[in-house]
Amino acid sequence: MFSASHITYYHLCHRKLWLHHRGMRMEDNSQAVAEGKLIGKTTYTRRAQRWQELDLGVVKIDHFDPVSKTIREVKKSPKLEAAHIAQVKYYLYLLEQRGVHGAKGIIEYPKQKRTTEVTWEPADRAVVQSWEAEIARIVQSPVCPELVKKNYCRNCAFYDFCFS
Ligand code: SF4
Repeated sequence: MFSASHITYYHLCHRKLWLHHRGMRMEDNSQAVAEGKLIGKTTYTRRAQRWQELDLGVVKIDHFDPVSKTIREVKKSPKLEAAHIAQVKYYLYLLEQRGVHGAKGIIEYPKQKRTTEVTWEPADRAVVQSWEAEIARIVQSPVCPELVKKNYCRNCAFYDFCFS
């Protein structure tokens, strides 16, 4: 089982995934990451108690409603929405693996007053398993993936590491 960061970084940058897997934690110095965590915490202070933390070991789902079987994720901006959806799909996959069928996800973007629903389809299982296989291949490689510049780099906690 991989962490949520592994799934997210796989969708953003394979180099970042490889560095993260080796314990490099530039995110700890990132303003953007700190802001994202703050939004998650402050948005949920007024929420009903039905949202519970669900600890799956390597993965911890911050907000899960066991009655409606709904996962809720809060994000700062929808710019990286594809990666956010992948993260929630992975959570739904892990729930299915544990016998929780029919769960769904909601991603909230409070600043933009927007939500995105994430559903689980049977075909998603093979897709998520292909992500896991590719992640395993990338992180087991002794060679760091090449630097490929992308729009996201400017906001990446590894920017100085890659470009200075
Ligand atoms: S700065 Fe760009 S290339 Fe380097 S790890 Fe981040 S996203 Fe990847």
